[in-house]
Amino acid sequence: MTSTFVDPDLAAIRHVTPRTPNGCEECLRLHTPWLHLRLCLSCGFVGCCDSSPMRHARKHAHTVGHPIVRSFEPGESWRWCYVHEIYV
Ligand SMILES: [Zn+2]
Ligand SMILES: [Zn+2]
Repeated sequence: MTSTFVDPDLAAIRHVTPRTPNGCEECLRLHTPWLHLRLCLSCGFVGCCDSSPMRHARKHAHTVGHPIVRSFEPGESWRWCYVHEIYV
């Protein structure tokens, strides 16, 4: 697919430090399991992916309004926009 669309949410990206590098911040607090981790690129919130029971990364994006995450899995560097539901 070719597209010249530039996601305006990319402007929300900051230099962030993962707040909880050991796992999903909410799952660590709630003692719930997660599958994969996503890093919020606006604030450094680490949340669990859509395949996880609690989907904290998506919840964080919609509750706080931080649109872009990147994969926090080793060897993965893709970014995802929760507003436009696309890789950016
Ligand atoms: Zn979680
Ligand atoms: Zn955030």
